[in-house]
Amino acid sequence: MKERATTLDKTRNIGIMAHIDAGKTTTTERILFYTGKNYKLGSVDEGTATMDWMDQEKERGITITSAATTAFWKDHRINIIDTPGHVDFTVEVERSLRVLDGAVAVFDAQAGVEPQSETVWRQADKYHVPRIAFMNKMDKIGADFESAIGTMVSKLKANPVAIQLPIGSESSFEGVIDLVEMKAFKWINQEGTEFSTSPIPENMLSQVDEAREDLVTHVAEFDEELMELYIEGEELPVERMKAAIRKATLSGQVTPVLCGSAFKNKGIQPLLNAIIDYLPSPKDLPPVLGEVLDSGKDVEVHPDENGPFVAMAFKIIVDPFVGKLTFLRVYSGSLEKGSYVFNTNKNIKERISRLLFMHADKREEVDYIRAGDIVAVVGLKNSMTGETVVSGDEKIILEKIEFPEPVISIAVEPQTKDDASKLTKALVALVEEDPSLKSFVDSETGETILSGMGELHLEVIVERIKREFNVGLRVGNPQVAYRETIRTKATGEARYIRQTGGKGQYGHVVLSVEPITDMSSNFVFEDKTVGGTIPREFIKPVERGVREAMDSGYLAGYPMVNVRVSLLDGSYHEVDSSEIAFSIAGSMAFKEAVRKASPSLLEPIMAVEINTPEEYMGDLIADLNSRRAKIEGFETRAGLKIIKAHVPLSELFGYATVCRSLSQGRAIHIIQFSHYSEVPVKIADKILGR
Ligand code: GDP
Repeated sequence: MKERATTLDKTRNIGIMAHIDAGKTTTTERILFYTGKNYKLGSVDEGTATMDWMDQEKERGITITSAATTAFWKDHRINIIDTPGHVDFTVEVERSLRVLDGAVAVFDAQAGVEPQSETVWRQADKYHVPRIAFMNKMDKIGADFESAIGTMVSKLKANPVAIQLPIGSESSFEGVIDLVEMKAFKWINQEGTEFSTSPIPENMLSQVDEAREDLVTHVAEFDEELMELYIEGEELPVERMKAAIRKATLSGQVTPVLCGSAFKNKGIQPLLNAIIDYLPSPKDLPPVLGEVLDSGKDVEVHPDENGPFVAMAFKIIVDPFVGKLTFLRVYSGSLEKGSYVFNTNKNIKERISRLLFMHADKREEVDYIRAGDIVAVVGLKNSMTGETVVSGDEKIILEKIEFPEPVISIAVEPQTKDDASKLTKALVALVEEDPSLKSFVDSETGETILSGMGELHLEVIVERIKREFNVGLRVGNPQVAYRETIRTKATGEARYIRQTGGKGQYGHVVLSVEPITDMSSNFVFEDKTVGGTIPREFIKPVERGVREAMDSGYLAGYPMVNVRVSLLDGSYHEVDSSEIAFSIAGSMAFKEAVRKASPSLLEPIMAVEINTPEEYMGDLIADLNSRRAKIEGFETRAGLKIIKAHVPLSELFGYATVCRSLSQGRAIHIIQFSHYSEVPVKIADKILGR
């Protein structure tokens, strides 16, 4: 095998996370430019940014899919995993966080931490992702480095520390002071490829001293001698400072903060240096946890190129040139192209025919992949997002990525016969790419139903079906994904007996249902029969019957949740009893029990956060109150008011337009699924047509 130039310790798998509009796309784009992969500077405003390769994203100016791009900087391979900033796409964020090792959080230096950055930040906390922060837009009116850092403390409870100071701000922003090297960098030409290095300007000396002390104090815990040297007024060796900052960052206890202006091409090269200096290589991370399929034994998977090959599929896209591409994160071992791998989730063997590193604008074929790589492979037909593929003797399965249940659905109808067959193909491809999207045909109406995480999520999907797959579609109004449950405990009994000459049918079931009040599980089935009143082989069929009845609901055909079923008693017939008879009896007994258990309808409740200038607050709140909202609280942030509320999803359709018109386009809102809650009786009666 040909040796690759970059070793594992010179690999960085990073994500760039940000609130919409903070400048993630521009920053990524500039990174690709300075690392030499892009020849022309793109601009998001003109819709040419390289990472946003989907038409949709270009138009909306938001980045939805997690494309992975490889770039090189100072002998290091940097794999950038794109993380979306919009909360309707949390699934995308979660799965990219799962496979990346470190992240750059991009903030708007004028706005500071905005609501969606909070969500993403908390997700990154959950996965213990070490981060550095980039205060972007230092050229913007109102940009304030210090107060933006302050919002990281107040909003994120983070422990940020500046490793740079801006030289000037707003229109006079010209460069940065590096507090580690104690030098000033100023950018000279417009493309930002040339910059000057000079001593710290006189007028900034005292400010720099203060910031430097703050920096040393923040990282002293990770190198105590550094503090002593500092107190004694000795020179602090640059490499030593870097090592301490690196340790502090990897521990997750400190977030180094840099600044710049991606748009004005200032500050990107130092950001690249910081990615290398402070963010982890795959070697720096704790092993990932897995389980051996047959024995259930826990295993640690170490980033060892000589270990067994273990990788996780985290993204599937259908590429117009090479077909289906599966993005893998390799956790251990190595693999040559043309090899077979074993999918532990599916228990199947598949062959990987080609290995590709994806650059934003081209693909690079390689002969082998190894621990730490993020790579796109061709050939995996049946492996899905979140599944583990291995090639060693041990069949290791990594912890699965959890995907939330969809809360909203729409009916789509193809316009012609030709469209119908194209729609089927499109849906197969899209569902494979996006596990938070579900599609099925409603057996009663024959309609094709799509369900997803939010209105915007489904809008984007419908647009892709129309555009990428060229399908003519009529689209229905969005529908809430209601659920059903029960309020009390009850028992039910049913006999399914048929005597039609020859062999008859006989199944007899007594069971109880009760609510699972802590909602820890959607369904539990327990066999509490004694003395073989129901023979063992008929227990599973009873459970199957109950499950089918749960799925089709009792009140209005919505799936039931949070129900514990106990099988109590029954009887059987030597000759006539069969699986099917017990399955039907189980379903009948369940329905009988549910009827007596005070069934109710549940609706998804969304957490809504509105960020608005004060003058629109009154109107926005009055409107929320007309939508059955429960106002949770108010905050003031960067001079704007924040309204937090819980609102039933059914009251939120088209809210984007309303919010815009009530605030003359100035309020920003975020809607995220929070929980399911009982529909008030009056409204439930309407939904159920009572
Ligand atoms: P994303 O939504 O986080 O990907 O943000 P974009 O990169 O699409 O940027 C959003 C908007 O902010 C665009 O209009 C950019 O031109 C603008 N922008 C990005 N970086 C800067 C910057 O450094 N300064 C200023 N003034 N504007 C910027």
